[in-house]
Amino acid sequence: MKKVAIIGGGITGLSAAYAVKRAIDGGADIDYVLLEKSPRLGGKIHTERTANGFVVEGGPDSFISTKPSIFELAKKLGCEDKFIVSNDEVKKTYILVKNRLRELPDGVMMIVPTKVMPFITTDLFSWPGKIRMAMDFFIPKKEPGDETLASYVRRRLGKECLDRLADPLVAGIYSSDPETMSLAATFPILLDMEQKYGSITKGMIAAMKARLKAAPQGAKPGAPAGPKRTLHMSMKGGMQDIIDELYKAADKDKILVNAEVAGIDEVKGEDGFTAYKLQMTDGTTIVADAVVFASPSNDAATLVENIDTQLAGVLNEIPQASSATISLAYRRKDIKHDFKGFGFLVPLGEGYKVKGCTWSSTKWSGRIPNNDYAMIRVVLGGARSQENAFLPDDELEFVVKAELKKVMGIDAEPAETWIFRWPNAMPQYTLGHLDRLKKIKERASAHPGMFLAGGSYRGVGIPDCINSGTKAAEEAAAYLTGITEPAKV
Ligand SMILES: Cc1cc2nc3c(=O)[nH]c(=O)nc-3n(C[C@H](O)[C@H](O)[C@H](O)COP(=O)(O)OP(=O)(O)OC[C@H]3O[C@@H](n4cnc5c(N)ncnc54)[C@H](O)[C@@H]3O)c2cc1C
Repeated sequence: MKKVAIIGGGITGLSAAYAVKRAIDGGADIDYVLLEKSPRLGGKIHTERTANGFVVEGGPDSFISTKPSIFELAKKLGCEDKFIVSNDEVKKTYILVKNRLRELPDGVMMIVPTKVMPFITTDLFSWPGKIRMAMDFFIPKKEPGDETLASYVRRRLGKECLDRLADPLVAGIYSSDPETMSLAATFPILLDMEQKYGSITKGMIAAMKARLKAAPQGAKPGAPAGPKRTLHMSMKGGMQDIIDELYKAADKDKILVNAEVAGIDEVKGEDGFTAYKLQMTDGTTIVADAVVFASPSNDAATLVENIDTQLAGVLNEIPQASSATISLAYRRKDIKHDFKGFGFLVPLGEGYKVKGCTWSSTKWSGRIPNNDYAMIRVVLGGARSQENAFLPDDELEFVVKAELKKVMGIDAEPAETWIFRWPNAMPQYTLGHLDRLKKIKERASAHPGMFLAGGSYRGVGIPDCINSGTKAAEEAAAYLTGITEPAKV
């Protein structure tokens, strides 16, 4: 029986395993195995649920609800009741400018203010900054083609918009550097809008009007029918819930932890077709007819080195940024801050080590044992300050507490803290990313049964990873059952 090996037990690999299992349940005569090097499943999704009732997210704490794959997956798994919405009655995000938290004006879509009054009254931008942003209506469009996010925003909306809005959003959320980020690979819609409407603001307003028109009367524009959704959503027991549900649905004997692939050779199978011989670090080997690489691109690069050095080279060209998260639980009686909001982001120019801070126990229900506590989560590091992700624990905590004191006036000691480090964990879609993907596709196509999936390629978010893992597995299953010629990446 033909077999597919899935390397990596994060959300991409587990989604792939589930898709293969569904193909088997649907009659495909194939086998599979998932190999995860660490003792736990989930990869970057890592929720710690403490005995005393804290739900602490080490990696992602939510997902964006505009991409349907996670809802489709949950429906198949029968766990739709696990989703939770953010507490939008206190939906305020702040940006730290000149040592003061300033509210992000209502109506900001991606990086563009679209509502007049909040834009006029906000103290996030200076008047010269606002006038410069309004010039977007008149600045002629440039020749089509990719550029960095920074160059685009500077050109269309001005430097202040870049410094105070685009920069903190992409650094705090994507751990990225706007000066190197490829717009075509990250926000292609912004390039399209400039070409179509001649102005990004006009484009956003047109998009908003179209959504309003399409929405049924009385419904929130863009909102699908069914249970309430908010832009960012999470799960009752933390994002690990989706991992637990995938594991529950899997064939347990085919999901192996502490199973690290050290290297792979391409060989001829007994039937004369291409096969892959996986060398495990414990000295054993596994032979598979197809491989889904659901590990980050840099890990995949190491594994394909013996098979295709050019492919390994391009995979290694995708940079990965390091970051750290620290969650701090405070006793409410020790602090005066009201935590009314979702948290704040910090522009690079402000000179802080903290990049972003989520007021987790306000944004999400069920993160603290009771209202005697408040929990916040801080992100450090990212593409431009990776060294901060590796500060020793005591120094990291010291820096964070000092900066929280400065910004939020908190000088109490936290009751508990949790630190998680993420070395080389955030793929960076820098200028040239789409060309790299083309080369990867070309090279991978030369190896029948080789599929690459995950956040390193076409979207880092959890829904993107689910989509990518599912698609790769479906293509692998189709390849193994000889239904179609597979497409790669
Ligand atoms: C701090 C942080 C915050 C984030 N926040 C969000 C967020 O709020 N929302 C969101 O949507 N996304 C967020 N992301 C991104 C998202 O978490 C990731 O893109 C996604 O979880 C990646 O899943 P994956 O399965 O592709 O990769 P991973 O989770 O990295 O899983 C890959 C797995 O492969 C295993 N592996 C690697 N090499 C081998 C080998 N040789 N043999 C066997 N196993 C191997 C690894 O151990 C790992 O478990 C965040 C990421 C980080 C780091």
